[in-house]
Amino acid sequence: MINFLNLKQINKQYREELIEACTRVIDSGWYIGGNELSEFEKNFAIYCGTKYAIGVANGLDALILIIRAWKELGKLKEGDEIIVPANTYIASMLAITANNLKPILVEPESNSFNISPSSIEAAITDKTKAILAVHLYGQLADMLSIKTISEKHNLLIIEDAAQAHGAALNGIKAGNWGDAAAFSFYPGKNLGALGDAGAITTNDQKLANVLTALRNYGSHEKYINIYAGVNSRLDEIQAAMLNVKLKYLDSEVSHRRAIAEMYLENIKNPLIKLPILNINAMSFDQHVWHLFVILCEKRDELQKFLENKGIQTLIHYPIPPHKQLAYKELNQLSFPITERIHDQVLSLPISPTLTFTDVQKIIESINEFI
Ligand SMILES: *Cc1c(COP(=O)(O)O)cnc(C)c1O
Repeated sequence: MINFLNLKQINKQYREELIEACTRVIDSGWYIGGNELSEFEKNFAIYCGTKYAIGVANGLDALILIIRAWKELGKLKEGDEIIVPANTYIASMLAITANNLKPILVEPESNSFNISPSSIEAAITDKTKAILAVHLYGQLADMLSIKTISEKHNLLIIEDAAQAHGAALNGIKAGNWGDAAAFSFYPGKNLGALGDAGAITTNDQKLANVLTALRNYGSHEKYINIYAGVNSRLDEIQAAMLNVKLKYLDSEVSHRRAIAEMYLENIKNPLIKLPILNINAMSFDQHVWHLFVILCEKRDELQKFLENKGIQTLIHYPIPPHKQLAYKELNQLSFPITERIHDQVLSLPISPTLTFTDVQKIIESINEFI
């Protein structure tokens, strides 16, 4: 069986270093808010090219706390509208509704899966205060156009960079395009902890300052609470794991890119639509291939066909947020491009430990599908 993603194999490569880091934390007697966290925050900010990185408990909290912090700073208030792609993972939506703001869903571009700049412009009203750009599947959203729109209409930009650690265009990385960005280090992400973890990056000192309090009961100083905050801290063990794994992120991404190139060059089946680079067709850097997602009208048959050949594939995602029970009030909305994407997408195995022999086998199998 060719697994979609083998986390055991991925982490096994760094086993000795991970154990060493774990031991260091155990022996330190300091488990929350210590050196490992500050080291990781420093390293991750350098990696993204931002002034600040603030560790939090997970990617959803990173998104929620960005919006919450802007409410505390008076930049957002309940009822304000935030534009978000309709085909995103539900976390991006939950962050908006958890803060009692209004998600305004817009269609993605059908070929890149990322939010369409012209649909953003068409959705802007007096109440629009922010754009939540999701770098879906690991490819930067069209940030050049999105920045132009945000400047014209004076909107904040939040990046949901949970799938895009290290994606870059013109030397600017995911996490350094917007006013603030949310990252997830869920184990299956390109930079994955060995448990839950997340971070926010920003260049805004005021925002960073509010966020370091919000994640810790609204407190900078023990027992002095300036906000009614939450407990959303990135613990020392996970920070230590991430300090080890961050060093290998770029080489893992290179392997993903090599696999993506093989797929793009060798899958030749008229029933399959391959993913495309949307912003700058020449720059492979803009995509870190968290997922390699193809479109096929006979998606379910193709998935079964590949399964019979011992190839595991997944669907990201089978149901769009506006069709979920969680959002009954949105169920009647219609987003044809989004709905077609959800009916046709299939994610092929792509991972730092997938061998080129296996990739070749996957390509051959897909080319045999009729
Ligand atoms: C994984 C993910 C999140 C949420 O991250 P968690 O760490 O699981 O909370 C948010 N947005 C997107 C696009 C994701 O893929």
